[in-house]
Order: sequence, then structure tokens, then C-alpha cells
Amino acid sequence: MRIDNASSTTASTTAQTERLRRVKVLLPLPLKGAYDYRVPADLELAPGDFITVPLGSREATGVVWGQAEPGGIAEDRLKDVIARLDAPSLAEVSRRFVDWVSAYTLSPPGAVMRMAMSTPSALLPEKPRTAYRRSDAPIEIRMTSARRRVLALIEDLPPMSAVELAREAGVGTSVVRGLADAGVLERVALPADSHRDLPDPLCAGPELSADQRQAAEFLRAKVKQSAYSASLLDGVTGAGKTEVYFEAIAENLESGRQTLVLLPEIALSAEWLERFTNRFGAAPAQWHSDLTQSERRATWRAVAESRAPVVVGARSALFLPFPDLGLIVVDEEHDGAFKQGDGVVYHARDMAVVRAHLGEIPVILVSATPSLETVINANKGRYEHLVLPARHGVAELPAVQVVDLRREPLAPRSWLSTTLREALRRTLEAGEQALLFLNRRGYAPLTLCRACGHRMECPNCTAWLVEHRLSGRLQCHHCGYATTLPNICPACDAEGKMAACGPGVERLAEEAMMLFPDARLTTITSDTVRGPAAAADLIRQIREHEVDIVIGTQIVAKGHNFPMLTLVGVVDADLGLSGGDLRAAERTYQLLHQVSGRAGRAALPGTVYLQTYHPDHPVMAALTSGDRERFLEEEAALREDGEWPPFGRLAALVLSGRDEQLVDRISASLARTAPRAEGVRVLGPAPAPFAVLRGRHRRRLLMKTSRSVNLQLQLRRWLAELKLPSTVRLQIDVDPYSFL
Ligand code: ADP
Ligand code: ZN
Repeated sequence: MRIDNASSTTASTTAQTERLRRVKVLLPLPLKGAYDYRVPADLELAPGDFITVPLGSREATGVVWGQAEPGGIAEDRLKDVIARLDAPSLAEVSRRFVDWVSAYTLSPPGAVMRMAMSTPSALLPEKPRTAYRRSDAPIEIRMTSARRRVLALIEDLPPMSAVELAREAGVGTSVVRGLADAGVLERVALPADSHRDLPDPLCAGPELSADQRQAAEFLRAKVKQSAYSASLLDGVTGAGKTEVYFEAIAENLESGRQTLVLLPEIALSAEWLERFTNRFGAAPAQWHSDLTQSERRATWRAVAESRAPVVVGARSALFLPFPDLGLIVVDEEHDGAFKQGDGVVYHARDMAVVRAHLGEIPVILVSATPSLETVINANKGRYEHLVLPARHGVAELPAVQVVDLRREPLAPRSWLSTTLREALRRTLEAGEQALLFLNRRGYAPLTLCRACGHRMECPNCTAWLVEHRLSGRLQCHHCGYATTLPNICPACDAEGKMAACGPGVERLAEEAMMLFPDARLTTITSDTVRGPAAAADLIRQIREHEVDIVIGTQIVAKGHNFPMLTLVGVVDADLGLSGGDLRAAERTYQLLHQVSGRAGRAALPGTVYLQTYHPDHPVMAALTSGDRERFLEEEAALREDGEWPPFGRLAALVLSGRDEQLVDRISASLARTAPRAEGVRVLGPAPAPFAVLRGRHRRRLLMKTSRSVNLQLQLRRWLAELKLPSTVRLQIDVDPYSFL
């Protein structure tokens, strides 16, 4: 063993200098912890190395998590590590992050690790890509038009892969391969990673206003310090927050460290990508669920090998193997899409702050409607608070008005009030654009029988079936069950009595088309927008005024600049308010504010109408007065009174299974063993609002503690003895956002 001169040799440096003989290996599987393995004499391993090991009768890939503790499994039962993989090691901070998230969410560390290793092929050496070019050999073959097209194309282009060549020529890849087999084309190897342009920090951004410059300078200074800091960049939609945090990214690029930007809805981020590319002269690397396997592989590898200076991604991008992350930006930090609801249940915004802490780097949270949690952290001085008070340039915030539906009742089977119809007419006459917002997909949320009152419900869930008239189906939005709309009531056999109740966007579109038959209308929902390319095209159509009326769900609410859009009609402003959810008011406020923010973003002023039966509700008051602070203060006071988050801690436990009595029995016994400590309360069990989901019966327990209580410790002790039958599942959600 090498003896260090320094007297303060810590355990970890000893571990590093001493050859690891036995290692703990974390496998990306939901196991309790890491497994011990022996390191064969010819293998040098260090913590963070990706390796293969035997697991039962198969081979598994894992990560060296450290030295095995003494007194583990007996030497003769220990198996040997098979090999070290040719991939950069996982940095120490990434490993600590996995452990941290695991401990916080009470998920097995291997389940968290799986998110960091979601692309197993990235760990294998890259296969060189095969490309094709014209061979010099004078070969005669039978010509077909497909072959001719390929040969004409290859004449003046560099070697291309079979897929590219086939796509360009409009033929199948077999045509290309056939030509190669015949010797007319020859195969050449392309370098695995062809050179990509990198974002250039020295590209100039726009001239910033005084407020913008001040915020940008502040953030640049934070990046230079390379220490942990959290800043809230808070400003109305259109204030230029993106331009400001681009400055922080430029600073971080100059320092040579990596940047991660988290966006809630990557499918809709074409505009963001375009802006980034314009600003920095090259696109960032991307990480989201719409990537192909080979794109995922390329991004994962580029991140691990420090070839991706900026990554923009959805929440799971947090678990990419950054060797040198220097800055995290969470745009639209209040957005619910940052909460992952199944598997490892975590909130990416909160975990981004943790990741910044562990990595001793700055994190910037960006929003026009920051979450109450974040505002309170800013008010308490835990976060820096940067405010951009005004829209950039001439753009003004829209005027927001309430349409009181109690005084102005809607006509039967109509969802647009006279006021809103008039506003639409004026807008269209002025040659401007309108958005009708309704956060409900499909044609009608409920179908019932007018003879007996029978409601069409999902057989697997406690939920109504939603009529989708375009696809001619009744659909469950929870489990995907679908059926055709019956003509005969399944309960009373009455014929032709099934009626649609309430509006969805399809029905609203029907009404708008009837009222304005000449207007060009488009509907944007997750049903009509399939993938980022389709989304980008729709957004472009709106921006370039190829559409007069846009009808959409929340996917149009976010981030876009539509210069001709001057009218926003919120068809049902009350929609999100019911349902006893802790954050119902806050979320409705955020959503409606974001939607309102689509109006009047350029030189033309905008107007917003909120159709509501509760014109005096604090949410409507805050939206019309623009007094966000007062609204947040009132919300905070309510939560503080009840010790609700962020003034207390909360965890939801949902037990589910197909056997209702079994689930009931287990939840009752779980409630009996609940901890009885000071500052801890356990509520329930109670049937979850979706008492049945995908055929599983669900019971909820809620653990509510004071802020001073270590909630995870209480949960761990409580659940340590729990033995669940394999048919019953327990899902733990720390800091729940959904109460369904
Ligand atoms: P936010 O992110 O706060 O909603 P953006 O950064 O999207 O605001 O800015 C709104 C619009 O104003 C964008 O089109 C942006 O390019 C433009 N903009 C913002 N600041 C400036 C500036 N200093 N110079 C020129 N254009 C700007
Ligand atoms: Zn269902």
C-alpha cells in the first residue's frame, strides 16, 4: 500500500490508492441496494466505472458504487466482475445524486440508477456506420427506375447511409443494399460521430434593457463564482427572461462547463430551439422521450464525453452522466410536467436544486407565475429573487376581463357568451387572431342516456368515457379503454337517446365554425399534435397567421409568441378549481395567466375574457387585477394555517390491487401501525378519488408532518416491517402534487 505523506489520509483517498478487491455494484434494477462482487486480479476498477457482472444466469450492466464493506457475503459465494465497459465513469456527484434521490423518494437506488442508464447501448463501443458510394468497377446490371434514382443521386453527393440514401431517393433500403451486393455501390465506413457545430458563447445576443442587463450581470456573476446558488428569475411573459438566462449560459459556455436546461414540454419547444440556435450559432443536444434509440445513444454518449456543452431536456435529463455540469436552468419552474408520477416519483425542479447543491453550482428557476414554494423560498432569502417588471419593447400586458355567466347565461348547447362572440367578431374583422382555451380534449366529457340517466363509464376506472367524435369513439383518458358510441342505451335499451354533455375542444370548434364559417380554424390538443415536428408546424402556421381561430388545451398555453394573437377567450375558467386539491387555485391561476400571456405579445394590444360562474373567486380577482402578490399571500396564509406544504411535509401512499378486500385489509393494518410521534399525522385510509384505475382498487393514506420532522425517516420506520403480497402495490409519493 502506498503511504501518503500527508497525515490526513481520508478513507476515500485510501480507497482510491488501494486497488479495489471487492466492490459494491449498483445494478439498474429495483433491488434493495448494491451487490458485492470480487474484482479479478487483471482488472483495475474505480468507483463510477461501468461494468458487467453475472446476475443469476445472465449478465447485467452496473456501476461500481464503491468498496464493499467488510463482513459482506462469504468469499466463496462471491462472483467475479466480468469486464469494465468502454464508457466514461459516472462522476462522483452523479452517484451521490442517485443516492440522494433514492433516499428522498424512498425508491430503490437501482430504480433511480436505471434513469441514469436508460440507454444501455450507449455503454458499448460505437459501431462504425456504413455508407455507400459509386464503385469504379464497370458492372452491368439490370436497371430499374428505383436503382436509377439511387445512382443519379449518389453521383454528386458524399457517401451516405442506406437509410439516408433510400430516403432521399424515395426507395426502400433493400434497393441500396442490392446495388451494393451487385458491386455497383461500394461500402465505406463513416466515422462514428461526425463533427457537429458547438454553441459559441461569443455570438452576440440582443441589446438588453437596463432591467434585463442587471439581471443578466447578476446571473453571470453567479456562474463565475461556481458555487451553489439558487435564483428565481421572475417576470411577466414576454419580459425577456429567456434572453437573460441565455447570458448565464454564455458565461458558463465560456468557462467550458456544461449547462442543462429543463423544459416542461419538449414536444413544443421548437421555438425555443430556434431561438437558442439563432443566439449561439448551433443547436443544443436534446433529451426527451421522442428521440429514437440511436439519438438517445448519441446524446448520452456526447454528454458523458463532454462533447455536449448544452443539453435541453425533459425532467429525466437530470440523470444524464454530466462529467462537469456548471449550470442548471429550469424554465417554467411552476409547471406540473416536472413532476414524474410513476416509477421513481420525483419533482424535477426540486431535484434540480438538489443536484445544484451537490455539484456546488448555480441553478436558475424561471417563471412568470412561480410556484408558491419557490416564492416563499425567495421571500425567506433562500433563493435570490430577480424581477423583470415589464414586457420587452412596446408590448403591453393584456387587459383581463371577467364574463359573469350567472348574469349572462349561455344559450343551450352553446359555450360562448354573447360578450365573447362579439369580441371574436371584432377580432376577426380587424384581421387579427383569437385563441379559445378549453382544457378538455375530445367532443364531450360525458355521454348519458336521456331516457334513464345512465352515464357511460369506463369499466376499469372510476371515470366517465370521453367522446372523441373525430375518431368516432368513447375513450377513457386514464387507461386507454375505447369503445364505439352506442345507439342503444346499455342500461335501458332505449334507442337514439344517448346525448353528449358539456363541451370538449372538438365541440367548441363545431360551435366556432358555425358562428364564423369563413374563419380558418385549427384545434391543438395532444390528440391532434403528434410529435415535435407536427407541433412545430402548427406553431409556425399560427405565427405566420395562416389561422384565424386557434382552439386548444393547455398545450397552447406555454411560451409561444404569436404576434397577431390579440384575443384570448377562456371558455371555462372554473374548470381546474373543483376537486379539493391543495394546489387547485394556484394551478388554475398559473395556467390561466400563462394562457392570457399569449395575447398581445407584439405591437398589438391584447384582451382576455374569462367565462366564469365565480367572478369573485380569488383566482379571477388576481387575474383581472394583476395583483399576484396578494393572491400568493392569501394562498400562503391558508396553507400555513393547516401546516400544508411548504409549511409542513406531506407524503401520499397509494395501495392498489385487483382484490378490493385484500387492499382494504392491508391499508387498514397499515393505518394501525402508523407512527405516533409528535408532529406526525396519518390520514386515511380512504378510497382514492379514482377508487378504481385500470382495474385496480386504490386506497390512500396521507402522512402529514411538521417541517421539523424527518418525514423519510418516519416513513422508513413505518414501512420497514411491511410485507406486501405480490398482487398489491404500494406507491409512495413524497411531496404529492396529484391527489387522485
Ligand atoms: P419571456 O421568456 O420572459 O417570456 P422572451 O425572452 O421570450 O420573454 O422575450 C419575449 C420576446 O421579446 C422575444 O421575442 C424576445 O426575442 C424579445 N426580446 C426580449 N428581450 C429583448 C431584447 N433585449 N432585445 C430584443 N428582443 C428582445
Ligand atoms: Zn379507464
